Amino acid sequence: MKTDSYIPDLLSFLDSSPTSSWAVRRLASKLDENGFTRVEECDSWNIGANARFYTIRSSSSIIAGITGTEACETTGCRIIGAHTDFPGFRIKPEADRKKENINVLGVELYGSPILATWFDRDLSVAGTLAVREGNTISRRSFIITKPIFRIASPAIHIEREVNKKGFRVNPETNTPLLFSSSGAVFDDVLSLACNSADVKRDSVSGWSMEIWDPQPGILGGIEDDFIFAGRLDNLTMCHAAIEAMLASEESQETRLVSLFNSEEVGSRTLNGAGSAFLDTVIERLAGGRDEYFRCLSRSIQVSADGAHAVHPNYSEKHDPGCRPVINGGPVIKVNAMEKYTSNDITSAYFRTCAERSGVDIQYFVSRNDMPCGSTIGPVTSTRTGIRTVDVGNPMLSMHSVRETAGKSDHEAMIKVLTEHMKGAVSISG
Ligand code: ZN
Repeated sequence: MKTDSYIPDLLSFLDSSPTSSWAVRRLASKLDENGFTRVEECDSWNIGANARFYTIRSSSSIIAGITGTEACETTGCRIIGAHTDFPGFRIKPEADRKKENINVLGVELYGSPILATWFDRDLSVAGTLAVREGNTISRRSFIITKPIFRIASPAIHIEREVNKKGFRVNPETNTPLLFSSSGAVFDDVLSLACNSADVKRDSVSGWSMEIWDPQPGILGGIEDDFIFAGRLDNLTMCHAAIEAMLASEESQETRLVSLFNSEEVGSRTLNGAGSAFLDTVIERLAGGRDEYFRCLSRSIQVSADGAHAVHPNYSEKHDPGCRPVINGGPVIKVNAMEKYTSNDITSAYFRTCAERSGVDIQYFVSRNDMPCGSTIGPVTSTRTGIRTVDVGNPMLSMHSVRETAGKSDHEAMIKVLTEHMKGAVSISG
């Protein structure tokens, strides 16, 4: 297992993954380098024992696996689940607007970004183009890194109360992207995207454009113990999941990493955690309906997503007992209202994996007067009946355009997830 070399690779992954499709593309090329074969859902599958494979659905969700030396109905699968998407903005159709002689573009919200953090950043755009060749339409990706957009804040002199009353944002009227004082329109942005993807403008008949902050991720703090970057929730766990699978040695158990789009908008899409993507992959590996059900009942999933660290400057917002700190180790998330799947058995399972790998763990529970969010664990667990624990690494500023996490937590999470993937710990009954 690698030791201190995960962080440069993580930062490079974050920087080159402005959208969930790009994240999946980067992870797929890492899998290619490590001997995995891509299989398509539309083809017939014949994946043997101890084989490495992955499949991608709708460009932005991926399931990768290493089959075990034993049939999965006898061992179950060891699964890590995470999500590939993150909150932000997308350019609307017919987005051109002119305001006070500045050309701006209208945007739609995706998920729940902290809106104020997107103001006064050097923003750019990435996404996909639907390219038509003859009667066939295919998807091509593009990235622009030049800061072509701005969401500008009002000066203090016209919002005198901003520091006392808070920075209030109307998500429709205050967020259009400033991008030209010389008459450029959306079509110029589209031409830039076409150049980047190396496709002809007249072959493009559709597009998806996501706004992103191209400022690179970096280690910060006086001893480099923090990670400052965008998209930490939840690309860090996507990275950790794949690294843990790669670090696990040959095993009886089949290991799967399932990374879904659409978590930030409720998971109910064709490739979200609410879809049948994971179910169908497991059923095809199991080979028959009865084998599939036996496999589900023996499988164990770790659902990994960002966790809230106790905030030193807002410490009253946290439970008085559970106060997970950055670089204090991975967090088991607990919620009596079942927003998280962790229970007595599955929490003990993750804790045992952590002890075996020499890693400290922490717990998160929310205050009763401050309900928590949710994640993919409950969604996939409800669909499949797979025993699941919800975990994550402590972080600050979740859903900010620039989040904060801990360097040593990332290494620690990979160790624990690797122990999970090895299959050394089991649950009886
Ligand atoms: Zn998340």
